[in-house]
Amino acid sequence: MSAAALRFSLDPMPGQKSWTEIPFGGGRETKRNDLPWDIAKAVEISGTGIRIQGQIDRVDVNKDEGLAIAYDYKLSKGASLDDLKSGRQVQIPIYLAALEQLFLPSFDLGGGGYYTLRGKGARLNQGLYRAAFADCTHITSHISKFDDVEWQRIRRDVATRVWEFIDGMRGGHFRVKPSLGKHTCKFCDYSAVCRYDAYRISRKKN
Ligand code: SF4
Repeated sequence: MSAAALRFSLDPMPGQKSWTEIPFGGGRETKRNDLPWDIAKAVEISGTGIRIQGQIDRVDVNKDEGLAIAYDYKLSKGASLDDLKSGRQVQIPIYLAALEQLFLPSFDLGGGGYYTLRGKGARLNQGLYRAAFADCTHITSHISKFDDVEWQRIRRDVATRVWEFIDGMRGGHFRVKPSLGKHTCKFCDYSAVCRYDAYRISRKKN
């Protein structure tokens, strides 16, 4: 899938270089010697001290402008802006934190988002991108481009939300409380073994 996406006919950025499936934050070993950063280097959610590790589906850099962008491949649509802002989906903010800590100051961040593999619409219109680099990022949707003040504010809010999750876990709070109620559970793979039963809970309330 990653290799197929590299052949899509998007206009490449000047001096573009792309990598796929790049680990970060330690925890993985690889024999690849073409990677853009030290995969063992620690990465944390900005301002929380919480270390994270994972793998980014794709990173493009524009060498001429000194710009880096992260993508998560999706067969169809990615998470909504509301999901990103509310901290229900933290993958893109985590990718951005990784790029920031592994690439700066050599590269500026253009943003990050979903790279849609199927369908005929725009492939890159969902995510958190900086309006200042719209010429390089191919993002046409207004709702996915932010001025730098708003872009940083959203990322800070998500970091605060993640911190609340971790703080709750450390405090032993494991309440079963899906963020959008039954809507969240609709496509969940674990509903058969989950102790959340909206009907049972509402019966108890009556
Ligand atoms: S079924 Fe359970 S685990 Fe799945 S989303 Fe709902 S509450 Fe969460």
